[in-house]
Amino acid sequence: MKVPRGGCCHRARTGRRDAKKPQSIRMLTESSIVPMPILDPAAIDAVLPQTQCTQCGYAGCLPYAEAIANGSADINQCPPGGDAGIHALAAVTGLRYARLNPAHGAHQPYVVAVIDETQCIGCTICIQNCPVDAIVGAAKVMHTVIAVECTGCELCVAPCPVDCIALITMPPTHPAMTNKDSAASTARTRHRARLARLGRQAEERMRKNCAPPPSEMRAETAPAAIGSPEHKRHSIAAAQARARTRRDRADTP
Ligand code: SF4
Ligand code: SF4
Ligand code: SF4
Repeated sequence: MKVPRGGCCHRARTGRRDAKKPQSIRMLTESSIVPMPILDPAAIDAVLPQTQCTQCGYAGCLPYAEAIANGSADINQCPPGGDAGIHALAAVTGLRYARLNPAHGAHQPYVVAVIDETQCIGCTICIQNCPVDAIVGAAKVMHTVIAVECTGCELCVAPCPVDCIALITMPPTHPAMTNKDSAASTARTRHRARLARLGRQAEERMRKNCAPPPSEMRAETAPAAIGSPEHKRHSIAAAQARARTRRDRADTP
């Protein structure tokens, strides 16, 4: 039989896998284990722009921060943060700087959304897509963007069925231009409030769906058929209740 080279030959001789690893392999495996730094998602989220645009490939800034922390995302996936954002992420995480990955888009000047109210049909689709609740309106009435709350995420633009939402350059007076950190903090709070509200609404819907349908509720409260075991049980319970009432009255001075 032809004896294989290297490790297989070694295993064939010893009969035990890795029982006697060559010195060079032992040194390599022991010295090459670099412990993954423990990263704090909140600290990473704190340096993200909070646009909540999902361009990074995650549902928002915090999920992206969590993905960086657990090693499943790179630090160069956030176009709104741009180069400065990648440097900030590198500083917070200790991970190596890398240029923005173009697969996630390019860093662009900041914008805000504006609705052409003469065209709006009040379908509410834009409200449902806005991650920071920056649009006000109701069904069948015109909608408006609250410009100071708009992060320019663009998520409302494509779904509008009449194409009446435009993006304009963010004015220099916008909070994101005058105080970036404060604007990011506000956007984070608004986004979390929205998620909490959507969570409550989903729970409420589930509770309603789990409630017995009206027909079952009627069946529970409907009188039992005379002579049925159910009817006898109710009759006995009613008789016992009447007897208790009579006894209580008799005991009363
Ligand atoms: S700003 Fe957009 S791309 Fe950047 S982390 Fe937040 S959701 Fe992701
Ligand atoms: S109004 Fe549109 S662009 Fe502005 S935050 Fe909401 S979804 Fe994004
Ligand atoms: S999606 Fe367009 S048409 Fe519908 S409410 Fe929003 S702005 Fe109006």
